[in-house]
Amino acid sequence: MGHNLVVAGLSGGIGSGKSTVSKALGGRGATIVDADKIAREVCLNGSTAFYAIVDRFGQGVVSGSGELDREKLASLVFGDEEALRDLNAITHPEVGRVLVERRVALDETGGIGIFDIPLLQPYHRELLRLDKIVVVDCPPEIAISRVVESRNMTDEDVQSRIAAQMDRDKRLAMADFVVDNSGSLAQLDNEIERLWAWLSSLR
Ligand code: ATP
Repeated sequence: MGHNLVVAGLSGGIGSGKSTVSKALGGRGATIVDADKIAREVCLNGSTAFYAIVDRFGQGVVSGSGELDREKLASLVFGDEEALRDLNAITHPEVGRVLVERRVALDETGGIGIFDIPLLQPYHRELLRLDKIVVVDCPPEIAISRVVESRNMTDEDVQSRIAAQMDRDKRLAMADFVVDNSGSLAQLDNEIERLWAWLSSLR
């Protein structure tokens, strides 16, 4: 670790509370690298990934504004293993390249760096030289009800997206630190405080 730098991967299932945790860590001064945001950026109109996606999925996935219609694309790949594999094969290398660039930059800035990666995999530990992996966890039935309440998604939508993610046990098995988000937002604050103290102690 050394050089006053600690780098952690942050993951969690859909609706687990990752974004809430990530935002709170950013507020405490951590450098946040948001993989979802990068995934959107590498697919902007004009990019290699944009053309590859249109080539594979057709003009129907382009919205009126000329950018990808992400909802449309999501509806095409969730529940279709081959389509999802093709999409990932286009986007993952592009996202990986940017993530590695961000990791190199962290060597200069130091501090606490957080890679917020919903689909974090064991290989990310080596690729991004992660010191630790943090998983935000909550029982799926609670996560589903939170997402259905906060977003315009049905139970079914959420279920199919959960099916596309790593299962809970596998995710937990990767974790060096588990943030328990089965309770209230106030309890989550306590968990975040505990996480921040732990990350700080590693520097
Ligand atoms: P996604 O994977 O869909 O992006 P996420 O894991 O980033 O979700 P959040 O967006 O942080 O999850 O949380 C999902 C919703 O649940 C948000 O509206 C958030 O405010 C709410 N939420 C998170 N934790 C709690 C909690 N402990 N109690 C009540 N609501 C919560």
